[in-house]
Amino acid sequence: MTTDLLSGRELLQLYAAPTGPTQALRGVDVVVRGDRITAITGPSGSGKSTLLAVLALRERPASGELRHRDRLVSGLSRRELQRLRRREIGWVAQRPAHSLFPQLTARGQIAQVAGLRGLSPTGTELAAVELTDLGDAYPGTMSGGEQQRLAVAAAAVGPPALLIADEPTAELDDESAALVLRLLRSCADQGSAVVLATHDARAIEAADTVLRLRHGVLSTEHETGRERTATIDGQGRLQLPEEMLPLFPDGRVVVTLADGHVELHPPS
Ligand code: ADP
Repeated sequence: MTTDLLSGRELLQLYAAPTGPTQALRGVDVVVRGDRITAITGPSGSGKSTLLAVLALRERPASGELRHRDRLVSGLSRRELQRLRRREIGWVAQRPAHSLFPQLTARGQIAQVAGLRGLSPTGTELAAVELTDLGDAYPGTMSGGEQQRLAVAAAAVGPPALLIADEPTAELDDESAALVLRLLRSCADQGSAVVLATHDARAIEAADTVLRLRHGVLSTEHETGRERTATIDGQGRLQLPEEMLPLFPDGRVVVTLADGHVELHPPS
């Protein structure tokens, strides 16, 4: 069974504002798993960036419980957190320049991140986002879209167990967005938990799970592929997603334990 990479319960985050504290997150329950792309959508100001910062272990929530590989994040030392961020967490800031080293060339960015993660560059990282020709260029001389592609390529080195990106396709034309989304998919296929905040229909389309935030509250979760998430309550009751109910018109179901998972079939 795969364990959740991150699980948050009742996450609350507050910021000081002139009118008093703003609740950027107001009790968010969230689970982040590997092998998938999770998109967080919602209007501007709904708390997406805040949730990403908490999940990337860059900000501590004001309250609530966050677990990383089943360990309470609040119990991790500053050194442990720093090590996790360096080795296991790729971060693409909303302004890509904020996640790049201004004094390093494109090739240097990749080498730097690889070094921090204890890896050697494969030499294909820039090609994946069609930036091979800009290997010797510095971020300051690149367009916004090129910086964004570079920031994603650097964050994806490894790939890391967790890859978090704030609006990673916002500045990109369709062709570049497709390159970035293909790279993110390849990270997920290699086991990464990829989490995006996005308004972009192209990125939402590419996600396996879509979480919607409104005023700091997660309102709905839906999955875009064949898989759906359901919860088992304390009594062992499973509530199936509504669209699956027609399979079981009289409410009876045959439950079979099969090689580490459970199958549900209508009675024959
Ligand atoms: P989104 O990414 O969905 O636009 P944010 O997470 O950036 O939303 O913001 C959520 C709320 O928290 C907003 O009301 C915003 O003004 C406030 N906020 C976010 N970051 C800060 C901060 N560093 N200081 C004060 N208020 C903040």
